[in-house]
Amino acid sequence: MEKNFAHPGRAWRLLEDRAVARAWHDLLETARATLRDGLVAGTSGNVSVRVTPARPAVATDDLVLITPTGVPYDRLGPEDAVAVTLDGRQVLGTLEPTSELPLHLAVHRSGTARAVVHTHAPHATAVSTLVDTLPPVHYMAAALGGPVRTAPYALYGTEELAGHLLEALRDRTACLLRNHGTVTTGDTLAQALDRTVQLEWMCRVWLLARSVPGHTPSLLDADQLAAAADRLRGYGQPGG
Ligand code: 13P
Ligand code: ZN
Repeated sequence: MEKNFAHPGRAWRLLEDRAVARAWHDLLETARATLRDGLVAGTSGNVSVRVTPARPAVATDDLVLITPTGVPYDRLGPEDAVAVTLDGRQVLGTLEPTSELPLHLAVHRSGTARAVVHTHAPHATAVSTLVDTLPPVHYMAAALGGPVRTAPYALYGTEELAGHLLEALRDRTACLLRNHGTVTTGDTLAQALDRTVQLEWMCRVWLLARSVPGHTPSLLDADQLAAAADRLRGYGQPGG
């Protein structure tokens, strides 16, 4: 740990910080949910969340908590937390961060979200090989900012992939990565995870609809999506 940490001794205080501990707990729950819900296989996929430590004495700047590379989620506990600064310096944990660190940091630095979920969800990954934009077969496209784009292929873990991702995510909270998987963002981990579930479900619906011989799925137009976006802003319980 000391090798990565500029202030020996401070790492333990980070782990004890209640905001950091709570965020790591939520991150593990989210990562496990992606496996349980069939959105990833094995150690594929990764999750990150930006956190402001509860006590400024622990760290003055926001940190990014992030899953380690290649470790099954059920083997991770409270003491395995991995955190980096927004410029990518590891300040907590002995495990190496995910290989997709560039992709996560690109989103966090953009300031558009506090949580990022990356999966290899099967229907979404299949769709990523077929189209540049997921045809809007359902109004839930509006919940993701509009028709979901596919980022061009680049090798996993590269700055090139992170660059393609930022382009595809413009004005959206979800995108597909060609021949690879999904990325969704949110204000919270729960929101980012829910968006992955919605995206995977919508990809499945489109694949089902287009597989009926002799028929072509009808699509929603921009006005219909805008009306759905408007209505979705009031969706759910008042104040919920
Ligand atoms: P990590 O195990 O390094 O998080 O990689 C999984 C992955 O999905 C790479 O794209
Ligand atoms: Zn991946």
